[in-house]
This record gives sequence, C-alpha cells and structure tokens, in this order.
Amino acid sequence: MTKWVYSFGGGVSEGRADMKNLLGGKGANLAEMASLGLPVPPGLTITTEVCTYYYDNGQSYPPELTAQVEAALAQIEAAVGARFGDVANPLLVSVRSGARVSMPGMMDTVLNLGLNDETVEGLAKNSDNPRFAWDSYRRFIQMYSDVVLGVDHYHFEELIEMLKEDKGVDLDTELEADDWKQLAGEFKAKTEEVLGRPFPQDVKEQLWGAIGAVFGSWQIERAKVYRRLNNIPESWGTAVNVQAMVFGNMGDTSATGVAFTRNPSNGTREYYGEYLINAQGEDVVAGIRTPQYLTKAAREEAGAKAASMEESMPEVYKQLADVFDKLERHYRDMQDIEFTVQHGKLWMLQTRSGKRTAKAALKIAVDLVEEGLIDEKTAVLRVDPAALDQLLHPTLDPTAPRDHFTRGLPASPGAAAGIVVFDADEAETLAKDGKDVILCRVETSPEDIHGMHAARGILTARGGMTSHAAVVARGMGRPCVSGAGTLRIDTKAGVMTSLGREIKQGDFITIDGASGEVYVGAVKTLQPELHGDFAKLMVWADEYRKLRVRTNADTPNDTATAREFGAEGIGLCRTEHMFFEGERIVAVREMILAEDVAERKKALAKLLPMQRGDFVEIFKIMRGLPVTVRLLDPPLHEFLPREEDEFEDVAKAMGVSVDKLKRHAADLHEFNPMLGHRGCRLGITYPEIYEMQARAIFEAALEVVSSTGDTVVPEIMIPLVATEKELAMLRARVEKVAETVFAEKGEKVDYMVGTMIELPRAALRAGDIANSADFFSFGTNDLTQTTIGISRDDAGRFLDQYVKLDIFAVDPFVSIDQDGVGDLVKLGAERGRATKPGLKLGICGEHGGDPASVEFCHRVGLDYVSCSPFRVPIARLAAAQAALKG
Ligand code: PEP
Ligand code: MG
Repeated sequence: MTKWVYSFGGGVSEGRADMKNLLGGKGANLAEMASLGLPVPPGLTITTEVCTYYYDNGQSYPPELTAQVEAALAQIEAAVGARFGDVANPLLVSVRSGARVSMPGMMDTVLNLGLNDETVEGLAKNSDNPRFAWDSYRRFIQMYSDVVLGVDHYHFEELIEMLKEDKGVDLDTELEADDWKQLAGEFKAKTEEVLGRPFPQDVKEQLWGAIGAVFGSWQIERAKVYRRLNNIPESWGTAVNVQAMVFGNMGDTSATGVAFTRNPSNGTREYYGEYLINAQGEDVVAGIRTPQYLTKAAREEAGAKAASMEESMPEVYKQLADVFDKLERHYRDMQDIEFTVQHGKLWMLQTRSGKRTAKAALKIAVDLVEEGLIDEKTAVLRVDPAALDQLLHPTLDPTAPRDHFTRGLPASPGAAAGIVVFDADEAETLAKDGKDVILCRVETSPEDIHGMHAARGILTARGGMTSHAAVVARGMGRPCVSGAGTLRIDTKAGVMTSLGREIKQGDFITIDGASGEVYVGAVKTLQPELHGDFAKLMVWADEYRKLRVRTNADTPNDTATAREFGAEGIGLCRTEHMFFEGERIVAVREMILAEDVAERKKALAKLLPMQRGDFVEIFKIMRGLPVTVRLLDPPLHEFLPREEDEFEDVAKAMGVSVDKLKRHAADLHEFNPMLGHRGCRLGITYPEIYEMQARAIFEAALEVVSSTGDTVVPEIMIPLVATEKELAMLRARVEKVAETVFAEKGEKVDYMVGTMIELPRAALRAGDIANSADFFSFGTNDLTQTTIGISRDDAGRFLDQYVKLDIFAVDPFVSIDQDGVGDLVKLGAERGRATKPGLKLGICGEHGGDPASVEFCHRVGLDYVSCSPFRVPIARLAAAQAALKG
C-alpha cells in the first residue's frame, strides 16, 4: 500500500532531509530535526504525491488517505497528551503548505485549527488564560474563513475596528477576554451571513477543509506567477504539514522568531534574526509589529532600545544558539530558522537552507571552505550563477551629492534610481514602456510580485528584514529598502511624505539597498569591485570548467570591462556597432547610398582608418587573446538617414540633392529586413565593404604585433551564411586582401576565417560548410528566430503569453530552446566536426550568458561560449557547475 503520510516529532521521524521531493522542504527538514533530537512539535506530512493524485483525479484523495491521517493524528495526540476535538483538553494544530522549494507567502496556512465553541472553553481553562483562548479562536475563525471559505479578511478587520471605537481604545492589546469572545461570535455570524451556512464546528471537517485549501492554493494565481518567475514546474505539487500548535502568545515568557545562522545580507558569521515577545509566528513575517533584535550586538549597532532576546531570555537564547550551531554543522550550510518559545520552552518550527544575497552566498561558500565544512567543489556548486548578477550591480558613487529623504532597513543590496510608482500593475506597465521604476508600498504582499519583478527597486514603509518585501526582493536580486519608519504613503493621493517633505508619483528617487538610505532625485552610481571572495570563487570555478568564456564586445570600453571580468578573448565583435560613433555615421551613410562602386570606395576610404584604429585598440587590450571580428551584418536600413537634417548632412558630403538621396533611400526599403539584404549577402553584392574591413583588420594586427610584440591571430567571421559557396567565395576574397596587405607591409600574421551558424540550412549543411571554415560560432539569436520562425524584434507582443501558457517554459531568446534550436546546434557541431575533427566551436548569441544554455553548450562539447561583459563571471561559474555536475 502506498504510504501517503509520514510522522515526525514526539520520538519518531519517518522522513529525512533528502526526501524533499516527497515531503516538501518543510516536512523533510522537520523530520530531520526530529531525528537529530531537536525539540519539534509532533506532526504529520501528507506527501506531494497526494497533491499530484488530487489534481489527476478530479480533486479527490486516494482512498487510504483518511485512515493514514487518522493514525498519524493519533500519534500526535499521544505525544502531546491532548485529543483533537476533546472538550476538556483539545489538541490544536497548524496546517501548512510545503513544496520542494520554499515559495514564501505564496500558499495558504491555517493556525489554531481544532477550536470550536466547546474546545475554546477547554483551552481557556487549561491555559488559565481566557483572553489567549478567545483571541486564538477569533484568529482561527478569521484565518479559516479567509483561507478556506473565501470570506475576505477585511470583514473581520472592520469588526475589530468598530469594537475598538466603541470601547475607545487604540490597540488590539487593550482588548480583553470578553471582547475577543464577543468578536468570535460576531466573526462566526459574519461568515454565516456571507456564506449562508454556519462556521464549521466539527474539527474533522475543519481539518479536511484546510488540507483541501492548501492543495487548492497550489493553483492560485500568485503561486503560478511565482513558479513561472522561479522556474518551478507545475508537476512538483505541494505537501501538507499538520503539526501540533505551540504558542508564542501565551504571555511574557513566550515568544516567536525567525533567524539566520549567518547574516543573509552580507554573509558575516553572526546570528541574525528577529523575535517578538507574546506573539504568533505570522506577526513577525507580516510586519505588523516591528520585531526586536535577536542579539545584543545587533541591537546596539542599530541603536535600538527594545531588549534583544539575548538580554530578555538569556537561557532560551543560549539553547537556541546551540541549535543554530548544531544545524549548521549538520547541514553544512547557513540555515533559516523559525522558532517559538512557549512558557520558556524552545520549539523548532522550521529549518532550511537560507536564501541569501549573492554577496552573502559568496562569502558563506568561501568561509565554509575555510572553516573546513565543505570543499572547493561544493563551494562552486553553492553559488547560483544567475545570482552573481546582483554583485555586478552598481553602488552609489560616494562622492555624488545626496539629498536624504528617509531611511529603512538594508533589505537587499544594490543601488537603483527611478520614478516613484505606488501600484504593482502600474509598475509593470511603466517598466514595459522602458521606464525605470521604484515600487513604493506600505508593505508588499504576494499579489505584488509581478510589480516587484518589473521594478528596479522596492521601498516599503513597514516590515522587517524577513518581511515579504525583503525576502522576495533578495531572491529576485532587486535592491530593496524595507520598513522606512518615517515614510507615510498615501496611495490614493499618489504622494509619499517623510520628515515634512513630499514626493509625488512620477518623481525620481534613489534607494540604496545596502545601507537602507533613500534619496530625492537620481544619484550617480558606480560599478562594483570584484576582488576578495568573488575572485577566490572564480579561481576555483576556473579550475573545474572545460568551456572557455569569451565576450561579445564592440568597443574598447566593453573590451576592457570584459577582461576585468575574466573574458578569455572576444567571441563576437560586431563591427557595425562601431559605425554609429561620432561623425562616422555620415561616412557609413555615404557608403550605403553610393550610386556606384567608385563612390562607395570613396566612402569606404574614409571608414578604413577609423576601423583600423578601433581594431588596434581592441587587439591591444586583449593582449594576445583570440579576437573574433565579424564583418558587416545587419540590415542596411538600420543605417539609413531618417530625419531631414540627417539627409542634409549626407547629401552635402556626397554632393547630391536631398531629393535624390531620399528616392534612393526609399529604393532600399525592405519588407522583412531581418531576412533581407544583410549578413554575407552584403559581402557578396558589395565586395568592397568586406574588403575594406578585412584590410583594416590585417593592418591593425600587423601594427599591434610590431608595436607590442604580442601575438595577434585575428579570427574573421562571416555572418548569416546559408551555403558553402557563399563562404568559399568570401573566404577567397579575404585571403586575397591578406596577401595584398602582407605584401605591402612585408610582414605576416596568422589568421583564421570562419562563419556563424545562424540559419537552419547552415546547421544542416555544416558538413560541407566546414570545408571552408576554420571555426563555427553559433549565432543562436538568429538561429532561434529562423528555426522557430519568430521575429526577434516583434516577438515581445506574444511571447509573454506563450510563456504564461507554458507553450515555452522560458523565453527562447533568453534560454536556448534545447529541444529545437539546441538540436540544430548539436547537429551542426556533429556534422562540422565529422568533416574537420579539430573544428573550433563556439556560441555568441545572447544564450552564451544564460546558465542553463551554458550547461547545454558544455554537454554538446563546444569549445567556448561568448557573452556580454557583465555576464562573463556568470558564464564562468555556470561552466564550472556544468563540468562538476558531469
Ligand atoms: C546571433 O544571431 O546570435 C548573433 C550573435 O548575431 P546578431 O545578434 O548580431 O544577429
Ligand atoms: Mg545574427
């Protein structure tokens, strides 16, 4: 018989930490903690397989489930010494979701389940605390009605506010037992009024209702959005954990908190966390009350008055610190922990590997190696390559003037400037229009994640370092400042104020997620420093990777940046990008609009020294590393004049009339320029263009060899080849230019001529194309466009929808479509190497900097990937991980 339910706590532990796929992260780790002898309230986990079964079978459960749950529940009752639904001594439970990976705040939770009109009396008597019992009951009715029965929680908030007004009090804490009792009655009546049926009194009905709600929450919109953003497959499903309640709200010797065993923001080895005395767990995370610090040192550093846990509960704090150390040594990683103290007794509610910033991930990985807990390989595998992006984010220029507006917690690092937006939908819309926005909210909720994703940065008025905004922003790598105490946000009026100043929707602000400061206006930012831990990890990564990593760089500036990031050469220098600089564009336009070869040559003669100068600089910066220069590629219309004054400039330079020029420009118009007169087709029809470029390359190479003594081996790359004939013809012309230049200068350099594989035909015919090529570079941008038949320029309109509908798991222009486009890459590589075993193979589409695509390139056996300068470190790490994963 299938085992659908696993027990933990109270001396048993049927699961283990490595059973996350079955038990979810939370369930597996609760079982593991129980087996380590840590104090875990007893509970049961319903497996993720039940979730899958539930959705495969018209939302019904396996027939054996009820009996298995009841048997496990009986074990909990025995361990706690209380019975579910017992009037005198009731067991209360929490019901929580728990997928394989944590999805903070995305799915549903119900606490205090098992209370009804009778058991609440038992709880009041046993706890000797009627206020607590009635408060728990009304919380339960509120949560259950909201989560399970779909009655919006504002109904209940209203009733609380009305009662407080009647009584003339401001705070919930001023309400007494009888007030909560009255509210519990009103809450039930409200639920009945909305639903037309009474609030369930049968505890079993409550339990199955909550279990159903958790499984149901796997498919609610915000959970789907979260999964899409985090590449979590629908098929994983969630587990459900039913666990005996422990209470942090039983008075001043009770508390609840969350903690990290190291600082998740910068990685420092220090306990880090927050707690609240006399509160339930959700109060800390929800940011309703401002939590207090865990350690004395953190409290003092922040200049806060409220006692730290280390000071207010020294005994329990010491136990907790021991648990932290034990868990770190056991899991060999930084842990994120939830705990509750009930009447001075410590209970562990959760542990998991803690989410951290890239900076912290690096420091922790490097420190753990130095502490002897993990080896270098493990460290390399611990850091998510995509997260390195965060480290490559700008910081504020310390010398730039600043105009202080408010200050909050440094919740997620990086500096960002943008316009103030108060609404998540609007943030998304404006970001789509290319605006940099800062999403400013009182606090964020899971409904806001699409706006947070679209924003450059996030600012909230409420909430701690573990609030929703902070956790989600760190995961996304968005700079975030949370809990800015002086900030008042009036969303309706579209303004926010702090310390007597006002900022309107649409005004610029700058946030610094590393310090928590917020400034009026856009403050200048600086590029990051990449030494220390980053450099150490990169050295380890470089030991393991097989792929080489080059960069796509067109300017001396990019080239220099890329070298600093560890690029081992240039995989793609798009020469056309050089054509837009300064005055050159006029000469480029003359070249395009020339009526005959003589005129074109005149224009090309102007461009030659400029191109040569660029190549000299690039060869010098790369100092002997390989440089692949691609000859002119893009559709010519990109260079055509558009504005009147642009036509006038070119007409003047060419000595022709503006009208004539306009007519000629109109002649060059194409309906599908991406599939038109571009790439090697330009080289075939206008031989003098490629000849000029080849000459510039050879002259520059000779100049650099003689002035620096470095070796320079230019790799000349012909774009958009479909047939071997095109390549053979163009190769012959390049060779002829080489001979001419070498004869003129009396010196030679070695060079290579290769091609891009960016059309399906080229991939299919790679076997014969290889006869004329010294190397291939897969241009997967165009190859994606032409294989799937979707336009690089226009696909944005529907691709979003395609990804939402899961037609594509991810945007194929971002991460290579491994089955389709990838198959052509594989085939092209095989056929090319069948002709020429040593054929050098690389990739230079945007995919070269995407970790999943890099792993694919490793598996296919390419020699190198090439990507934009800022993604070079990401590719290096991804390549190492690919090699280590085998
Ligand atoms: C490609 O098509 O993948 C490529 C690198 O070339 P471009 O993006 O310049 O067309
Ligand atoms: Mg291309």
